[in-house]
Amino acid sequence: MLQGFGAELRRLGLYGAVCVIIGLIIGHLGYTLVAGMVFYLCWMLWQMRRLNQWLLRKHDEDPPEASGLWGEVFDNVYGLQRLQRYEKQNLEAVISRVQESTSALRDGVIVLDRRGYLDWWNPAAQRLLGFKVSDRNQPILNFIRHPRFVEYFEGGDYSDPLDLPSPRFNAKQLQFHITYFGRSERLVLVRDVTRLYNLEQMRQNFIANVSHELRTPLTVLKGYLETLDDSRALGAEWDKPMQQMLQQAQRMNLLVNDLTTLSKLETTEVGLNQQKVALGPLIERIRNEALVLAGDKQQRISCECMPDITLMGSEKELHSAFSNLVVNAIKYTQAEGEIRLKLWRERDRVCFSVTDNGPGFERKHIPQLTQRFYRIESSRNSGTGGTGLGLAIVKHVLLRHDAELQIDSEVGKGSTFTCVFTPPESVDSAKN
Ligand code: ADP
Repeated sequence: MLQGFGAELRRLGLYGAVCVIIGLIIGHLGYTLVAGMVFYLCWMLWQMRRLNQWLLRKHDEDPPEASGLWGEVFDNVYGLQRLQRYEKQNLEAVISRVQESTSALRDGVIVLDRRGYLDWWNPAAQRLLGFKVSDRNQPILNFIRHPRFVEYFEGGDYSDPLDLPSPRFNAKQLQFHITYFGRSERLVLVRDVTRLYNLEQMRQNFIANVSHELRTPLTVLKGYLETLDDSRALGAEWDKPMQQMLQQAQRMNLLVNDLTTLSKLETTEVGLNQQKVALGPLIERIRNEALVLAGDKQQRISCECMPDITLMGSEKELHSAFSNLVVNAIKYTQAEGEIRLKLWRERDRVCFSVTDNGPGFERKHIPQLTQRFYRIESSRNSGTGGTGLGLAIVKHVLLRHDAELQIDSEVGKGSTFTCVFTPPESVDSAKN
């Protein structure tokens, strides 16, 4: 540009000199200079007009021919236009590739603008939710009106996906996962999880049916075994096998009971049987039951409960979770061991812990302890007769109460299991 500017200055200088010479020759220096300036100005205006006309025409035309500063201006503008065209083509290619790939996806992809209005969606989303072209710029909540979706969408916490029945096909189950992108725009991913959902339903029904159907034959078997054992109708050589049969029947009974409890927790809706539960009396009741259970082992069971702590929840489920922890402590702690139950409130949390000075376990087991049927090898061999379902039940109950289980243990020193209830709205003091 500077080169062109220099050439333009030189040209102006030469042009001025010619005007001065002509002015001197004809004896009208002033007029000649003014006429020269007017001519130069007109030429400038003409060049500007050419630039303007060229800019107004479509951009695929070459720029007008010009020399000096104007030639350089035309070339530079033309260069910028070509660069912009190239970048636009690149961007269009990227966008169409993204659109092609998202179109090929079997999962639905929906782009929402800042207001939550439909901006773009792929064919899978169209198939799953039945959008039409004319639905563009409509709020997504007009199409998915399920109260749980509305709450999820407006809540703004999209860390977990949301499973819902399809608003279009009754038999379908969809999973929605929202993420923010750009400037508060949202991307909604929609997956058809019907197969997984049906499988999960089948699994739940299967367990519920099996545990229900096993109950009657087991009761009959147990009844006959107990009668046979009491009557001593069989000879002494049957004493040991009889004891083993009774033990195994009892174990199967426990298994069926735990499986039934778990399947009820899985199949009943959260929030049913919700009531204000006074935790102090509930724990005192569990302690009394535990004292009976720990009778032979003569363990000390102490209880330190802050008064007047209540919680919204299901008393039956909380009883089941807490007593599972206490029964475990009794089961795994040696005779004359010590078990401490503690209930307290700190800030917006309510905590209940069961601590024992039993054998404890290595920390590496902690992540798996709440899995179904997981038992530490030493417990399997100790003949404590557990089912491996107790802590799975605790975890499920706590999940249903927006709470979590914290586990701490040290080999040879003992273990602490703490139930931590966090949501402030469910924590309620009886004083209030
Ligand atoms: P189980 O019916 O075997 O007790 P749980 O699910 O209740 O099943 O517990 C899983 C495993 O966790 C137990 O098998 C045991 O190894 C371990 N465990 C649970 N509570 C304690 C405890 N208080 N002390 C030591 N180990 C424990």
